[in-house]
Amino acid sequence: MSGPRPDAGIASLWRDTADRKSDLPCLRGDAQADVVIIGAGYTGLAAAHRLAQRGVAPLVLDAKPIGWGASGRNGGVVSAKFRLAFPTIAQGHGMEVARRMHRLALQSVDEVEALVEEYGLSGARFTRCGNLRCAHTERAFGNIAEEAEWMRRELGDDSLRSLSAGEVAEETGSRAFFGGVLSRGVGTLHPLNYVCGLAEGLTRRHGAIIFERTPVTGIHRDADGVRVVTTQGEIRARQAIMATNAYSDLTPASAMVKSRLVPFRSSIIATEALPTALQERLLINARSYGETRRMMRWFRKVDGRFVFGGRGAFGKRDSKAAFDALQRAMVSMFPDLAGVAITHRWSGHVGMTMDALPHVGRFDDRLSYAAGYNGAGVAMSTLLGRLAADFAIGESPDVALLEAGRLKAVPLYPLREVAVRLVAGWYQFLDAIGR
Ligand SMILES: Cc1cc2nc3c(=O)[nH]c(=O)nc-3n(C[C@H](O)[C@H](O)[C@H](O)COP(=O)(O)OP(=O)(O)OC[C@H]3O[C@@H](n4cnc5c(N)ncnc54)[C@H](O)[C@@H]3O)c2cc1C
Repeated sequence: MSGPRPDAGIASLWRDTADRKSDLPCLRGDAQADVVIIGAGYTGLAAAHRLAQRGVAPLVLDAKPIGWGASGRNGGVVSAKFRLAFPTIAQGHGMEVARRMHRLALQSVDEVEALVEEYGLSGARFTRCGNLRCAHTERAFGNIAEEAEWMRRELGDDSLRSLSAGEVAEETGSRAFFGGVLSRGVGTLHPLNYVCGLAEGLTRRHGAIIFERTPVTGIHRDADGVRVVTTQGEIRARQAIMATNAYSDLTPASAMVKSRLVPFRSSIIATEALPTALQERLLINARSYGETRRMMRWFRKVDGRFVFGGRGAFGKRDSKAAFDALQRAMVSMFPDLAGVAITHRWSGHVGMTMDALPHVGRFDDRLSYAAGYNGAGVAMSTLLGRLAADFAIGESPDVALLEAGRLKAVPLYPLREVAVRLVAGWYQFLDAIGR
């Protein structure tokens, strides 16, 4: 196995299979807009779409090429969930809040579908193929089956169905699982084509202005609104939206988001195209698949390749040890993959929050934001980008527990990396002993 390349993005399967590269200008000089959006991932672009729809002129800036952040690197699993389970939400906040949160989760997937249809993004390959959550212990199977039953009974969600160990083995081609819960209605997409397609749709259909390779270095309030300073120019706008999420450490301008998130590194490997016999035996229904460990691993097939991801590598750089650990985990679940070559390895940051929920709203009278998807942000960032735009134009949509005031700064921020290692180590220990 060759070592990982220094820039995780370069080795990504999505880059090698993208329909097109983004080719947008960088800002040189000054500009004006109604609302300036900082960050051109799903959050920023969905916000721009919403503003354009409402007749408000957005201007989007990204420090890097479109898709450089998590939106171009993720696993493409389109889920309708939060890291906090719905029964836990109901226990802590009551059934009415759980119902509102459930509606937001379902709406997030609808939002992806609507954008894909509106801009004709066939390259995004969005499909509602369903997700199968596979239990790594008998006890975990009991828990997820019970949760599915609770969702049916209390939230009227009949998209969930429990599968026996035999059914999971037949569908996945792995005997590692004790059963599973199938969730219909959720899906998968090609993450980089989705984000590049959004940028193209916005410029082509809505005449939105997007600048790449334009880092924002400062945000200043003045009597008329905000003055956003970039490396080679300045934008004046009435409002700004921060859409920098787990990449908020690029410049000090996004410190207010950075201080509220704990970045976890999430890594992915992809194999060469599998021989036909293996393709026909593994993941035969071509859904997305995840398992129940705290340090969750997930997998799917893309163009006949096996794609396997999970959390567990930390720090600022890619780690060969983390990629090797992923490969070992993949082979222990799917022994058939033992001799298959790994052709792609890449990783990125996900933004975790203290309450395991994303948040959206206002920092103050000039600045709105959405962030903190806790690793489940493909659909949710598409929805919360839209809602951040609504906040920016003075509305107050119902966001239940996702409201801005609940996003707390991370205590003892300088110690966060040590804390992440401790928590991850503890989770790995609990996973290893089957708790
Ligand atoms: C490896 C990996 C796998 C994942 N898998 C899944 C999955 O399968 N399903 C799922 O639902 N979620 C997944 N996620 C999470 C999901 O990708 C994110 O939640 C989502 O993409 C967040 O989108 P965003 O637009 O908020 O952030 P990003 O896409 O990260 O965009 C933020 C942008 O802000 C820009 N920026 C930062 N600072 C500045 C500045 N000062 N000036 C200008 N621009 C700036 C960055 O360049 C970046 O492009 C995964 C994440 C990773 C990293």
